[in-house]
Amino acid sequence: MKRLLPALLLLAAACKQKEYNADMLVKNAVVYTVDSNFTTASAFVVSGGKILAVGNADSLEQKYNAREVVDAQGAAVYPGFIDAHAHFYEYGMGLQEVNLVGTHSWPEIIDSVKAYSERNTDGWIIGNGWDQNDWTNKHFPDKAKLDSLFPMRPVILSRVDGHAAIANQAALNIAGVKPGQTINGGEIETSNGKLTGILVDNAVGIVTRKIPEPTAAIIDTALLSAQKNCFAAGLTTVDDCGLPYTMVNTIAELQNKGDLKMRLYVMLADRQENYDYLFKKGIIKTPRLNVRAFKVYADGALGSRGACLLKPYADSAKWSGFLLSNPKHFEEIAPKIAARGFQMCTHAIGDSAVRVMLKIYAANLKGKNDLRWRIEHAQIVSPQDLDMFGQYSIVPSVQPTHATSDMYWAGKRLGPERLKTAYAYKQLLKQNGWIPLGTDFPVENINPLYTFYAAVERKDLKGFPEGGFQPENALTRIEALKGMTIWAAKANFEEKEKGSIEPGKYADFVILDKDIMKVKGSEIPATKVTQTYINGVKVYDKK
Ligand SMILES: [Zn+2]
Repeated sequence: MKRLLPALLLLAAACKQKEYNADMLVKNAVVYTVDSNFTTASAFVVSGGKILAVGNADSLEQKYNAREVVDAQGAAVYPGFIDAHAHFYEYGMGLQEVNLVGTHSWPEIIDSVKAYSERNTDGWIIGNGWDQNDWTNKHFPDKAKLDSLFPMRPVILSRVDGHAAIANQAALNIAGVKPGQTINGGEIETSNGKLTGILVDNAVGIVTRKIPEPTAAIIDTALLSAQKNCFAAGLTTVDDCGLPYTMVNTIAELQNKGDLKMRLYVMLADRQENYDYLFKKGIIKTPRLNVRAFKVYADGALGSRGACLLKPYADSAKWSGFLLSNPKHFEEIAPKIAARGFQMCTHAIGDSAVRVMLKIYAANLKGKNDLRWRIEHAQIVSPQDLDMFGQYSIVPSVQPTHATSDMYWAGKRLGPERLKTAYAYKQLLKQNGWIPLGTDFPVENINPLYTFYAAVERKDLKGFPEGGFQPENALTRIEALKGMTIWAAKANFEEKEKGSIEPGKYADFVILDKDIMKVKGSEIPATKVTQTYINGVKVYDKK
């Protein structure tokens, strides 16, 4: 009798446990939990916006009384995708401007701008996304056609990476740009003593700063339209890199109202007022918003030859690019950021820019640490400098679709030798044993499955090149999935609350129509998100 008693008690306890209430049971799924053992499960239970239990449906159904049952019908379920480097707000604004991504020629751009100007009859015409590398004639255009079409209305059209733009005379007049004018870290192009309208790097800002501030309503629309597309792509957290501090309140308010459900990791731009704001406030952390990082620019982009290289460009013998600020500036801000425990995230693309920043980081971080300072892009890294990432726990934050977009011309810029040191994600991963992945949207498409595909196959959407671009730097599927979930969360100091489907974490998850861990590589890009959940709430349904 004495022996039976504990068993009876256990049985009684088990019966009682059936009465546990839960909000949702997801069953009949292949759940990639992305826990430390990369285990799979067939079901999980959600309560109060968090994962309560993970296991198989039989045992979970016995224990929990779920208000709602989601039958995944055998589909694969993953933690919600995180984009570790993007421009969420800018993307949303871009949705309200002339979209020039994928245009093939200057005349095609002119047509798009004309069509836009007929739909939107006043104010500035702002366009984004052109890339002369996609044109047959790869030279920068000039402003003549824009001047004849829009003699009074200001027009500015930014290159896909934002590091160059073309403005018409009306816009240049408003900004007071004159032929022969010079600017540090930028270029105002002239031809035969006349402005061509082309502005490179810091020169772009002379004109864009004159664009009138968008109204509150336009900002809200931008954020909500960005969110809609991101949910449809399976994103549940996005890192927005380089916002002004004034956006923090706007975002928080829209989140508090319940309209903006997207979780955002916000990096403030490298400007004095942003430091003043955040140093005074300290880390801002709510379930959907995390502000503790600064986004700093070391150099420009490789496509526009703004990346700062150790040796000259292979296709421009005397040109090595340039730093966007005097290194003194970076040396001054780094200790201030370090002293307060904030995160420094620096855009560095060329091997010279990467080296300058690694050295400044090293001087402040001193050795292994947990400040998780990031080098954004880390596109070209001298083999000599690689080990510094590991020695100083510096996080390379990379965008696999950049490799497959740039591969057509990166070799021309860098030459074959140096190309081998570029987009070296596997090598970078080895440094700390983890690496966050992103897209840099709107520079690239927002779709995280394109990131996954580019990371593992090293091919573009045309399936080019057959064997993959520098395939020695491909990631495994497990690594790529971690890069979009748990490692991206870690880059944001959020690995304890998201990035995997484990008890206690937010119920952010996504259901796909194919299992990207198993389908043929060529089928990855066409894989579709069927449902996206944040905090256990469905925010996207393909049906
Ligand atoms: Zn970026």
